[in-house]
Amino acid sequence: PAVRAQTPTVAARRRSRQVMVGSVPVGGDAPVSVQSMTTTLTSDVNATLQQIAELTASGCQIVRVAVPSQDDADALPQIARKSQIPVIADIHFQPKYVFAAIEAGCAAVRVNPGNIKRFDDKVGEIARAAKDAGTPIRIGVNAGSLDKRLLAKYGRPTPEALVESALWECSLFEEHDFRDIKISVKHNDPVVMIEAYRQLAARCDYPLHLGVTEAGPAFQGTIKSAVAFGALLSEGIGDTIRVSLSAPPVEEVKVGAAILEALGLRERGLEIVSCPSCGRAQVDVYTLAEEVTAGLKGFPVPLRVAVMGCVVNGPGEAREADLGVASGNGKGQIFVKGEVVKTVPESQIVETLIEEAMRIAEEMGVE
Ligand code: SF4
Repeated sequence: PAVRAQTPTVAARRRSRQVMVGSVPVGGDAPVSVQSMTTTLTSDVNATLQQIAELTASGCQIVRVAVPSQDDADALPQIARKSQIPVIADIHFQPKYVFAAIEAGCAAVRVNPGNIKRFDDKVGEIARAAKDAGTPIRIGVNAGSLDKRLLAKYGRPTPEALVESALWECSLFEEHDFRDIKISVKHNDPVVMIEAYRQLAARCDYPLHLGVTEAGPAFQGTIKSAVAFGALLSEGIGDTIRVSLSAPPVEEVKVGAAILEALGLRERGLEIVSCPSCGRAQVDVYTLAEEVTAGLKGFPVPLRVAVMGCVVNGPGEAREADLGVASGNGKGQIFVKGEVVKTVPESQIVETLIEEAMRIAEEMGVE
């Protein structure tokens, strides 16, 4: 009898405590969440809320807004109240904005220990205010703004320096019995970043926010983030992710979601298994894959669709998918759940796949 193979999964999640970012749990057994950051002036409430609405529609679960000025701090109450997803205030230089953000009802506050001058004296007050309001704090260390003391000690932002900065700041909060914390230690080099998070994961049980900082334009940033998050998440490290791209934030959310789907940490939506094509191809695989992807965009049920150029791997992959086509001789063999249901001329492959997809959705009771 055939051996029934179990589907392999990534390593079990590292055990972390859980914090609540508004309604979204981060850490513990909560699913890894995807977040992004607005690019509007936070003081422009309408533009910011509009962008948050777009991000929400694209699947963003938590959003961060920058608070570099008093005008931005003044906008927080309205933004926090009207946003459909939890809003985190991102504070770099001024502790007074931390208090304003907590008072404004932000779901969390991000502070950068390297940047907040005389922050250490204020920790007690911040811890008290955050505790009273039930507001978690993200300690967000960034290679580009590492504490000068640590930069002098280590010479550059090494993994050890990033981790020491984060844990030092944590210890200041812990002295005030505040542990509602999550941490990030971002670097633009995925190799340094991966090592920093590994060290951090081994030394504390706080939930971790993964990020490759200044990852670059869309293509490079996507690759860097996918490589770094892929390595860490497959080891069970990471509780929430933010992809940083020099591109509209909606793109960050799409990439973040796709990384989680690729690792099996989130249910896959539409997954196209298409071959790269080669000299054996008997159909234009690129166009076919693009047309099928476009035709099934936003499809309401998870679906794995194989689009294969010839009969070498075609029937095998098509059989493993929910739906598939193996092409050859100007025709396409259409597979549904492993069975050939029909053979159609090449010109009808896309419409037939879409029809069959609709039928699968109907059978599942989804219109
Ligand atoms: Fe080449 Fe056929 Fe494999 Fe596609 S399925 S890459 S056409 S051998």
